[in-house]
Amino acid sequence: MKSSLDKLQKFFKLESERGYDNRAVVGGLEQMLSPWEAEARAEGVPEDLVQAVLSRLRDYPNLSPTSRAEALEGLWRRIQRESGQSASALTPPPPAEPTTDQRAPKPTNQRESRFTPSGAPPHSGTTPQSRPTRQSRPTPIVEGSGAVLESPITVLKGVGPRHGQTLSRLGLVTLGDMLYFFPRRYDDYSLLKPINRLTYGEEVTVIGFVDRVSIRPIRGGKAQIAEAIISDGSGALRITWFNQPWIAKRLRPGMYVSLAGKIEQYLGRFTMNNPDVEPIDQENLHTHRIIPVYPLTANITQRWLRNLMHEVVSYWAPRVQDPLPNSIRDEYHLINLAQALLQAHFPDGWDQLQASRQRLGFDEIFLLQLGVLRQKRAWQERAARVYPVHEQSLENLINRLPFTLTGAQQRALADLEADLTSGKPMNRLLQGDVGSGKTIVAAMAIAIVAHHGVQSALMAPTSILAEQHYRSLINYLSVADNQDGLRPEEICLLIGATPESQKQEIREGLAAGKIKVVVGTHALLEDPVNFSDLQLAIIDEQHRFGVTQRAILREKGDNLHLLVMTATPIPRSLALTVYGDLDLSILDEMPPGRQLVETQVFLPRERERAYGFIRKEVSEGRQAFIIYPLVEESEASEAKAAVEEHERLQRDIFPDYQLGLMHGRLRPEEKETVMSQFRGGDLQILVSTSVVEVGVDIPNATVLLIEGANRFGLSQLHQFRGRVGRGQDQAYCILIPDTADAIENERLSAMIATNDGFILAERDLAQRGPGQFLGTRQSGYQTELKFASLTDLPLIEKARRAAQDIFSQDPELAKAEFQILQRTLEKFWNKGQGDIS
Ligand code: ADP
Ligand code: MG
Repeated sequence: MKSSLDKLQKFFKLESERGYDNRAVVGGLEQMLSPWEAEARAEGVPEDLVQAVLSRLRDYPNLSPTSRAEALEGLWRRIQRESGQSASALTPPPPAEPTTDQRAPKPTNQRESRFTPSGAPPHSGTTPQSRPTRQSRPTPIVEGSGAVLESPITVLKGVGPRHGQTLSRLGLVTLGDMLYFFPRRYDDYSLLKPINRLTYGEEVTVIGFVDRVSIRPIRGGKAQIAEAIISDGSGALRITWFNQPWIAKRLRPGMYVSLAGKIEQYLGRFTMNNPDVEPIDQENLHTHRIIPVYPLTANITQRWLRNLMHEVVSYWAPRVQDPLPNSIRDEYHLINLAQALLQAHFPDGWDQLQASRQRLGFDEIFLLQLGVLRQKRAWQERAARVYPVHEQSLENLINRLPFTLTGAQQRALADLEADLTSGKPMNRLLQGDVGSGKTIVAAMAIAIVAHHGVQSALMAPTSILAEQHYRSLINYLSVADNQDGLRPEEICLLIGATPESQKQEIREGLAAGKIKVVVGTHALLEDPVNFSDLQLAIIDEQHRFGVTQRAILREKGDNLHLLVMTATPIPRSLALTVYGDLDLSILDEMPPGRQLVETQVFLPRERERAYGFIRKEVSEGRQAFIIYPLVEESEASEAKAAVEEHERLQRDIFPDYQLGLMHGRLRPEEKETVMSQFRGGDLQILVSTSVVEVGVDIPNATVLLIEGANRFGLSQLHQFRGRVGRGQDQAYCILIPDTADAIENERLSAMIATNDGFILAERDLAQRGPGQFLGTRQSGYQTELKFASLTDLPLIEKARRAAQDIFSQDPELAKAEFQILQRTLEKFWNKGQGDIS
């Protein structure tokens, strides 16, 4: 089989194994296209096949995972036919439906200049700026003196204090850092694009030698132009750099260089303007090696850094001790760490590079998992007070509810009861789709501990929601002169807008223990709020809070029980990693009588029809939400859009109805007034920004119109959708994207297809990455994982199994064979005590 086709198939395989994330080739599949084209032509691959590959892969980065899978699948079959292989399918495509992958990297036009003028910092790759609690790279351990790799890089020959300073900008401080400072891409010098095969407009890397080079002034000496002729035996190319005379000064005739840039035309000939240029070692060309290209910063060149890296990696990587015991390495078919590090920097081939990545990705998740398990055990080692249920009281409260609990609610409640009597602090995540009825479960837990005379706090991300919870708790729990529940005055609301005098009163009541339940926003976290005996803390919509905030709340009580709740279904891969230290209860059953919200995507030109629909519903006595998205990353502009739309709608579209306006800039009491008017039916339509996203419960609202729907993730749209369909009447959700963009509408059509928040969450994760599922602290995970992807469930499950296996054998990692692992783990989690999820 032709080597070019073989290579292509290998890439396809890798890509499909990775779930089509366009990371099988560092820098993206597009990096290999032009060298591949040259090789394929040289091997005589039929022109129509070459063209098919180029045309289908050129746009690869912009495709959704599903479209990527389709593109590769089609080419895969074609290559098989072409080369007479028996037909076999590429692995099955990912679960995501056709959509745009908004996170797919766009081909970048920015490249660092490898000849960097001093003082002009070029665009460089990732530069780790702040070090999170957990080290972003594990410090490897070497035989003998473990501290060697912690030596500053200035111990290296040729690296003085000034270079040390420069390299620290790349996060390179110690020798150990260097082992974990990985290339941002690789150049494969075994594949070359000959100059006579270049085509107009393509982005390519060309390798050749410098024929001539010259500098001349233009614009009366105000600017300079440097020109070079580069040849490669097949042809010559004229290169021009404007106002970068230093480039020409570094080029000498006969020198081999690689040029990366776009092929343009001038006077009928191909040229490149201001390409990236880098001198290359001729030996690279002849060894046909894959060469690493590292992120750079001002004042250093690729070549210098690569030599330095080579020196350090080739000496130290083989001396690194492997934290993974052999048993795990064998079971999961992983190469050893020394090999993995060597191959990650100076790979012998793409297969070796892939094996290296698997190993390093495994390590990332594995260490994360061990930390999570440890964390979980640490919670479990604490003692907590025991709160047995007073069965009769609880039953009385439940019997007073206007509905019966769903099976899922009963199961969740049983989980909570077990936690409260376990003698260990509860650490539970209650996950349930919008409307699944989490609040009542939380309320019952509050009732259980209140029966023992201790305090509970319920924290919500917005004052609207806190206020609503407050009302629910009063409803569910307060029973005047009834010993089963609480007296109304024992439950209070503390939000930013609470008048200072009242706040003072509440603070005193909490400190004295007279108030048993407080519902509030982050105002609860403020310093003067102290409890007499806080024993249960509940956090609603927990991903809206950071870990720090949770920790602060936790500290307000003595080994208290913690329940966090979320309506955002968390994909399993994330639940296992980032939330792995929490126990999980899921409300997987909706209260009876919930009808499905009928969802439709309307094009912008169909807006009038949507208005007509709203008018019809409102005329029948029901209510509607109209949501406007965050237009820019500013609350002010978001509010402005909503204000203007509100005006327009009130004046031109719905003059005969009362329209309310809600946005984040309103004062809390204004928000409350609007909400209560809407709840009370004085307002028929509520025009709002995304502030109504979570929790708001208005059973009479039956229409939800979302403008700019393309700007939201599916999970978020699903949250919005949960605002309606809470009452008896059929409810509708209308999504209007900004444009009639077909791909976007296809993505949105997932909302029509399913009402299952889990499915939507999985799709979101595949399309938009884990950001929106993670709290402020956890978003660091995305950037810290260099090889593993939080969407890679098979990898996560493997690493988790391995971690559990080791942990169950020896949780302290005391055995001799776990010594290196124990030390690595300590370093990985060096300061990471306390909450991690
Ligand atoms: P979420 O899980 O989104 O926080 P809520 O707790 O706000 O859901 O409950 C949504 C609505 O469903 C509320 O109006 C609540 O009173 C009602 N509800 C909760 N549990 C049940 C049930 N078992 N049967 C009927 N309605 C219920
Ligand atoms: Mg809720």
